[in-house]
Amino acid sequence: MHTDSPRHKGLRNRMIENLRTKGINDEKVLQAMNEVPRHFFLDSSLENLAYDDRAIEILCLQTISKPSTVATQTHLLQLQPRMKVLEIGTGSGYQTAVLARFNLILYTIERQRDLYIQAQETFKLLNIRPKCFYGDGYKGLPGFAPFDRIIVTCGAKEIPVDLLKQLKVGGIMVIPVGNQTQTMLKITKTNENEFQKEEFGEFAFVPMLENKAK
Ligand code: SAH
Repeated sequence: MHTDSPRHKGLRNRMIENLRTKGINDEKVLQAMNEVPRHFFLDSSLENLAYDDRAIEILCLQTISKPSTVATQTHLLQLQPRMKVLEIGTGSGYQTAVLARFNLILYTIERQRDLYIQAQETFKLLNIRPKCFYGDGYKGLPGFAPFDRIIVTCGAKEIPVDLLKQLKVGGIMVIPVGNQTQTMLKITKTNENEFQKEEFGEFAFVPMLENKAK
């Protein structure tokens, strides 16, 4: 059973100060990250690493994203309360929980069944209720589209066309695109068939794979 002790809170404050030294200065994002106990999303044997700025292995050979990466992606989304947001790659659920601090209508898709199940257990502990789906994020959620924002937390070889379709005009998608490493893209849908693309540095994500895992 996880607890959030004064020691964890102290480590979390240090993580936030460390993010500031890396140039992350979005106060809303830093506050949200200060409110989410990242160690809840890890195996208890790895708890001591929870507040370092590093990716850590979770189930199914996947990784929880680095805090600085979570901060960057969350910042680029420019969230406002009540927005409809789709996340691809629930993984541990940590990024989802940070998004949940922004009072959104939140949907998240994971292709690994074990992670889909475990993340929901963690969400229950934290009393948050994103709408969780087990499926292929390349397809998005056509039944719930369009979305104000889409965030992809795995490395896509190319920009998934279905996700572009499911974005509102004026909406933003934040997605790392590339093979070995990925360029973080912020894509703004300026018109039904027009997009503006901006680049925000190189990152290393686990790959975005097609179809559900068995
Ligand atoms: N935000 C998560 C990142 C986990 S790693 C966290 O911080 O814990 C990326 C996740 O994307 C993995 O769990 C992987 O299984 C998932 N993934 C990869 N391809 C996917 C796809 N096509 N649809 C949904 N999830 C996918």
